[in-house]
Amino acid sequence: MEKMWSPWRSKYIESFNKKDKDCGCVFCRAAIEDETLDSSLVVHRGKHSFIMLNLYPYNGGHLMIIPDRHLSDFKQVTQEEYTEMMEELQLTIKVFENLMNPQGFNVGMNLGKAAGAGIDQHIHLHVVPRWNGDTNFMPVIGEVKVISQDLLGMKKQLHNEFKIISEMNSKL
Ligand SMILES: [Zn+2]
Repeated sequence: MEKMWSPWRSKYIESFNKKDKDCGCVFCRAAIEDETLDSSLVVHRGKHSFIMLNLYPYNGGHLMIIPDRHLSDFKQVTQEEYTEMMEELQLTIKVFENLMNPQGFNVGMNLGKAAGAGIDQHIHLHVVPRWNGDTNFMPVIGEVKVISQDLLGMKKQLHNEFKIISEMNSKL
């Protein structure tokens, strides 16, 4: 037992955690922030990943499913992580169907800047609800980076629905 007590190690872990928190990545920050705050767009948390609204939505309700770990290489995603992310995709579809009754979904990843990833250092799976005749790709350039009241209202609504559906699922 004596050997387990090693202050240099806890210091090391502390600095590692601090480094992680301050890495400047918006998804790493979102992975640990309090999602009940109005400054957070996180609508659901799993064990290894979480779901958040996109600040620059392509369409109403544009969500992202994101692993907690700062990964740029999809091959490094573990089985546990992608199983959970796929379960979260099913959950997301159910939540959207309950709240907004979409007629379709776009689901996918942009891996790398060349593929159009805005944040290419931390992979994320986009889920965009679609309706016949909706407008795609809302203009985002030049927009002020603030959470609008519309987006905040949607966040609260989604956060609540995710809670209801995941509690229902856990009772099945
Ligand atoms: Zn990150």
